Amino acid sequence: MSDCLHVRWTIVPRDCPRPVLACPTCGGDRPYHPSGKIRLNANGKRLDAWLIYKCDDCDRTWNRPFLERRLAADIPPAELAALRSGDPALVRRLAFDLAALRRKTPTIIQSESVAVDKAVLGGTGASTNVEIALAIPYPVGLRVDRLLAVELGCARGRIAALAKAGRLTVGDGGNALKRPPRDGQAIFLDLVGLDDGRAISDAARQPTNRLTGHA
Ligand SMILES: [Zn+2]
Repeated sequence: MSDCLHVRWTIVPRDCPRPVLACPTCGGDRPYHPSGKIRLNANGKRLDAWLIYKCDDCDRTWNRPFLERRLAADIPPAELAALRSGDPALVRRLAFDLAALRRKTPTIIQSESVAVDKAVLGGTGASTNVEIALAIPYPVGLRVDRLLAVELGCARGRIAALAKAGRLTVGDGGNALKRPPRDGQAIFLDLVGLDDGRAISDAARQPTNRLTGHA
């Protein structure tokens, strides 16, 4: 009989996705970053709102529309207040909305730099199996195998070898290791009898040494 360590990793990107746009001032493609501000326009009963981005090099602005001709009466009062005050939580949520950004521009830079918060849901470090549940509130640009290598303290080759031996399985199967993680995805490790099993299960529940973490 073996027991199982259950952990939840909450993975939050450190930087929001950045569009690459043709900057008229710079005269070429440049990455833009959110300025942290919203522009709101009221026209009678209708609202338009934009998230404001700035060119990395010259600060020229680009306004990404996220509300177009919306009836103010259709917007819940709390959301309207957040819009009017430029609430930082709302600005952050908009800035991380990768799907909305993709609808406006094809080229987007996604940082691989993430913060991983590890919570033990059950079991102990002496467990011989580990189940990792991933919580991904915002899209991340990192591949699952890179994430596991850093957070489990292994080389990427070791991660690949564990997968090949059937010791590591990732929900969604197939090429899931080479794709970005998804919210709700589960990763299962069978560490019975492995020399590095204890080190891996310890790493699964302990904070990563950021000196060697995702840079
Ligand atoms: Zn520019």
